[in-house]
Amino acid sequence: MKTSENRIETDFLIIGSGIAGLSFALKIADFFKDSNITIITKGEKNESNTKYAQGGIASVWNKTVDSFEQHVQDTLIAGDDLCDENIVRMVIKNAPKRLKELINWGVQFDKENNNYLLGREGGHSQDRILHHKDITGFEIERALIAKVEKQKNIQFLTHHYAIDLITEHQVNKKKTHRKDRITCFGAYVLDEKQKIVKTFSAKVTMLATGGNGQVYNVTTNPIVATGDGIGMAYRAKAEISEVEFIQFHPTALYNPGEYPAFLISEAVRGEGAILRDYYGNKFMHKYDPREELASRDIVARAIDNELKKSGTPHVYLDCTHIPYNRFQKHFPNITEKCLSLGIDIRKDYIPVSPAQHYICGGVNINKKAKTSIKNLYACGEVTRSGLHGANRLASNSLLEGIVFAHNAFKNLTKRYHKIKTPNNIPLWNDSGVVKNMEKVLITHDRNEVKTIMSNYVGIVRSNERLLRAERRLKVLYEDNKRLYDHSELSVDVCELRNLITTAYLITQFSKKRKENRGGFYSADLVNNNH
Ligand SMILES: Cc1cc2nc3c(=O)[nH]c(=O)nc-3n(C[C@H](O)[C@H](O)[C@H](O)COP(=O)(O)OP(=O)(O)OC[C@H]3O[C@@H](n4cnc5c(N)ncnc54)[C@H](O)[C@@H]3O)c2cc1C
Repeated sequence: MKTSENRIETDFLIIGSGIAGLSFALKIADFFKDSNITIITKGEKNESNTKYAQGGIASVWNKTVDSFEQHVQDTLIAGDDLCDENIVRMVIKNAPKRLKELINWGVQFDKENNNYLLGREGGHSQDRILHHKDITGFEIERALIAKVEKQKNIQFLTHHYAIDLITEHQVNKKKTHRKDRITCFGAYVLDEKQKIVKTFSAKVTMLATGGNGQVYNVTTNPIVATGDGIGMAYRAKAEISEVEFIQFHPTALYNPGEYPAFLISEAVRGEGAILRDYYGNKFMHKYDPREELASRDIVARAIDNELKKSGTPHVYLDCTHIPYNRFQKHFPNITEKCLSLGIDIRKDYIPVSPAQHYICGGVNINKKAKTSIKNLYACGEVTRSGLHGANRLASNSLLEGIVFAHNAFKNLTKRYHKIKTPNNIPLWNDSGVVKNMEKVLITHDRNEVKTIMSNYVGIVRSNERLLRAERRLKVLYEDNKRLYDHSELSVDVCELRNLITTAYLITQFSKKRKENRGGFYSADLVNNNH
């Protein structure tokens, strides 16, 4: 890596260290042995949505009872006719190969008698979820980080926050438009510890920044999930779509004051757990013949409806009939968490309510993980790949990350040698910044975005709610612009900018959607259900 002042040249710049970014880095490092690769991540090495994944990764594993076609159909049904079927088929066919790679890299999935144990989750017609207890994501991060650390050509920088992508806009001071063929030359990155902005120029930039759950009050996503990738890509004029499809997980543990919300995995319902209202009555049969195993959007809306009808703060998940040994073995983390709150799942029901969990849309990518911007690739939750359509099938997202990371790598093996090292990239310019804004304003604005989104752009939306959200977000946008221009650059102020942008995009895309489909539901469109 060559450094001059705060300018750093690298061949590959990977933004994000979840499953998508790390698996891409490993493939690139192994194939392009003479290249240098930089992974930057805004927190600790493993802090990511990946780290919190519990249930596991879906893949057809036992072909005597399961088939690619069944996994394809389950995915298409969950996606409510909005998936790209070719992409779905490609991802699902590639799943076993990608999982074997994870296993070769050291990820340990649970086994019994030398066979992998396969779990089932909502929307899946077969047992096909490989998992590591109920901490699959934690195990994936452990294994991939250990492997990355052994690679000599990877530099892994923590507390490095990507502020903006570098395109012609900065290099030629040329106004770029969404329809122009724009090129990405790297990114401006805030080194939080040194408090300097570094200019990373890269032949290839990989956006693997994950989700945006922090735009909502209650989310299962960690604090780093602030929609930075969508914000950066939007400012760089990349194509973005389907961000109105937000998945709310039906069963986050109801524990006011705990952030992020602790997830009671879908796999618990797969094991036979039953949803009961506040008064102990079963209710899922009123909403879907698959009852507790209906897809997430249906279960989340059913719970939302029960809560609105009864005015109660949560419903219950009843696991009392599941053999304790089996439950404890499969879900040690959940068992321990419940016990820490005095909930003994042998006799107590678990209080649960829905929480924001996943964004199905994002930065548009094609099969090769290419965005609409040249030399900018993207993979994982930040993208709209066509796999999830209007609603993601459980345990398909870790899979999406590794499959598209692989596809990006494959594409680069063919075209990397043609990519020229970018030059003329201007250093970050922070002249004119007046450092006099109160920090507390950032906190107020952040809370306001969350409240607006939770109140008006949640599980059930309406035209009036969306208009209210739009008006309020416009005011916040203007205030944030002043804040951004006039305060010392910090992660907080940059995150706020991205939270507002992502919130605004979700609201705008929601306004444009004229039918209820998958994870999108408006009370004004009840007669226009897909
Ligand atoms: C509680 C929970 C349980 C889940 N369970 C499952 C499951 O069982 N199965 C499944 O398939 N999916 C599950 N998911 C979803 C899945 O975990 C995510 O969709 C997936 O891990 C996303 O991977 P990723 O690599 O795209 O992003 P992430 O894992 O979120 O990684 C993003 C990375 O980008 C970094 N980053 C973000 N912005 C910046 C910036 N500006 N500068 C530098 N770095 C940045 C972050 O710090 C992080 O390292 C779950 C999610 C949650 C929250």
